[in-house]
Amino acid sequence: MDLIAQISQAAIINQHKQQTLIREYQETSNAGLVYRLGIMGGTFDPIHYGHLVTAESARWEFKLNTVIFIPSGRPPHKAEKCISDAELRYQMTLLATANNPSFIVSRLEIDRPGSSYTVDTVKQMFKDMGHLTDLFFITGADAVLEISTWRDVAELFGLCTLVAATRPGFDLIETKQGFDLPGNLINKIRFIEVPMLAISSTDIRNRVWAGKPVRYLLPESVKDYIKQCLLYQNLECAL
Ligand code: ATP
Ligand code: MG
Repeated sequence: MDLIAQISQAAIINQHKQQTLIREYQETSNAGLVYRLGIMGGTFDPIHYGHLVTAESARWEFKLNTVIFIPSGRPPHKAEKCISDAELRYQMTLLATANNPSFIVSRLEIDRPGSSYTVDTVKQMFKDMGHLTDLFFITGADAVLEISTWRDVAELFGLCTLVAATRPGFDLIETKQGFDLPGNLINKIRFIEVPMLAISSTDIRNRVWAGKPVRYLLPESVKDYIKQCLLYQNLECAL
C-alpha cells in the first residue's frame, strides 16, 4: 500500500476509534462507572517505541479505557527549536497507533492557535469528556522533573493524575528530592517503570541525519514515512 493510502486508512481507523470512545463512555456512565482516560502529550518528532510502550504500560497499570495521543502544536519549551510541521507529526502518530484499538490521536493542540500548555489541554479534555471521567496525564520522568516550570501546575494536579514513566531501577527517592514542588503535590505523582526509556526522538533524528539505522526503535510505518518524506535531512533540525 502506498503512503497516502496508508495514512487515509489510519485516519479512518482513528475516526472509528473516536466513535467507539463516545459509545463506551456513554455505556460506562450509564452503568454508573467512571471512564478512565490516559492523555499522552508530546512533540512526537518522530513518535517511537518509548512513547508507545509507556502508553501501553500506563493503560495496563491504571486500567485505562483509552489513551489519547495529543501531538503538540507549538510546544512552549521547544519554541526556539526547528520542529517538523504539525501535520507530519500528526500523520506519523496516526500510523504508529493504528493497530492498537485503545490508542487514539487527537488534533486538539494542532488545531489550537498559540503555544500548547498542558493545563489548557487537560482542561479542554475535562470539558469535552464530562465529569464522569478520570484523567491520567502520562509523561516521561525527564519531563516531569521540570514540572515546577509548567503553567498552573497546582490546577493541573487538581484535574488529573500525573503518571511519570521511569527506567527500571530508577532511584525514586532521589528523583523526588529533585522536584521543586510542595510535598503534597509530589506525592500525587504516580511512577511506573518502563523498559524502553533510552529511546528518544532526538537520537532518532540524529541517526536519520547520519544515515544510521533506526529500525526497531520505532514502527516500520513511521520509519518508511520518514524516508519517503525526507525528514531530518537538515542538521539544524536533526539535533
Ligand atoms: P525529544 O528528544 O525531541 O525531546 P522525546 O523522545 O523526548 O523527543 P517527546 O515528544 O519530547 O519525545 O516526548 C513526549 C513525552 O514522552 C514526554 O512526556 C517524554 O518525557 C516522554 N518520553 C519520551 N521518550 C520516552 C521514552 N523512551 N520512554 C518513556 N517516555 C518517553
Ligand atoms: Mg523530550
